[in-house]
Amino acid sequence: MLVLPKRDVLTVRVAKGQPLLCVLYLLLFHFFLFMFLWAYYQTIFGSHPGVPGEFYLSSDEVQRIESEDRSGEQQEILKEISRDKALPVYTRTYGGGIRYCHICKIIKPDRCHHCSVCDRCILKMDHHCPWVNNCVGYGNYKFFVLFLMYALLFCLYVAITTLPYFVQFWQDMQDSDAARFHILFLFLASIMFAISVTILFCMHIRLSLVNQSTLESFRSPIFRHGPDKEGFSRGSASGNFHDIFGSRKSHWFLPMFTSAGDGVNWPMQARDQDSDRLLDDDRDEDLSPGEESPSRDTQQFKKSIQAGTKYDSTSNDVVVPIEPNTGDRVQLVLEPGHIAGTT
Ligand SMILES: [Zn+2]
Ligand SMILES: [Zn+2]
Repeated sequence: MLVLPKRDVLTVRVAKGQPLLCVLYLLLFHFFLFMFLWAYYQTIFGSHPGVPGEFYLSSDEVQRIESEDRSGEQQEILKEISRDKALPVYTRTYGGGIRYCHICKIIKPDRCHHCSVCDRCILKMDHHCPWVNNCVGYGNYKFFVLFLMYALLFCLYVAITTLPYFVQFWQDMQDSDAARFHILFLFLASIMFAISVTILFCMHIRLSLVNQSTLESFRSPIFRHGPDKEGFSRGSASGNFHDIFGSRKSHWFLPMFTSAGDGVNWPMQARDQDSDRLLDDDRDEDLSPGEESPSRDTQQFKKSIQAGTKYDSTSNDVVVPIEPNTGDRVQLVLEPGHIAGTT
């Protein structure tokens, strides 16, 4: 039989007439604890979806690249492979080339980065988190945000419920019951953790609403038109929120995977999808002799198309909203050298 010294026994004082309140305290305590541990478990052990097979280079393709000493030639081979496989790649390196991982031997999908700790490429890598000993990326970013949220709620709950005893501690200094020091430590520890988690949680909520990863907030992804921090934004906070938390409201706050997409294809603003595809500029360069290149006016007009404008590259039709509230539309027909036609 275990006998504790009297000074270490925590005395629980239940106020008369408040048993229901005590039950409520216990239920809420275990609810927040359970949700926190569930989200934490999912963040640690949640698996990252692998990079799809089409992004991997075959041994022959790797050999071709490694046999070339000049980076320019290597880039040409990578462009050829990307074009043949029609890979959905829109971002590029700072030098304008295709992003390639020499360790995994893959053409990196957009938002994918190689983690030197995990020693693999992670889809939509956010950062490597030592607190969960795992990368935070497309597969577990929702779990990570919920982990922060429930950690914050748990700390606040503990701080609020111990606050009356903390005040009582300072009002009755004569009573040196050891249990009072436990309450004091519990209150201060929960407040300190709550403050630090609040900062991190607010930062990731902001990033979620603008559809940025931590890496992208420090180093903007490069598109054909240059660096663009908001290149992957859906254009609205709610759209960006749904990208991570899904469309089913009942699942938003459960640590279950509901993120949209596949981690490889990213909805981008119309201008990017039509004028910013990585290989589009290569098509211009590959025009056969005598074939007319799109005029500068046409290219400039395409670039000037704002988000929300729909452009059909196959028919050269552009649908521009005139008054969003009335639903009126004007349809423009793009032709090399001039713009004509309205309906
Ligand atoms: Zn890699
Ligand atoms: Zn990692």
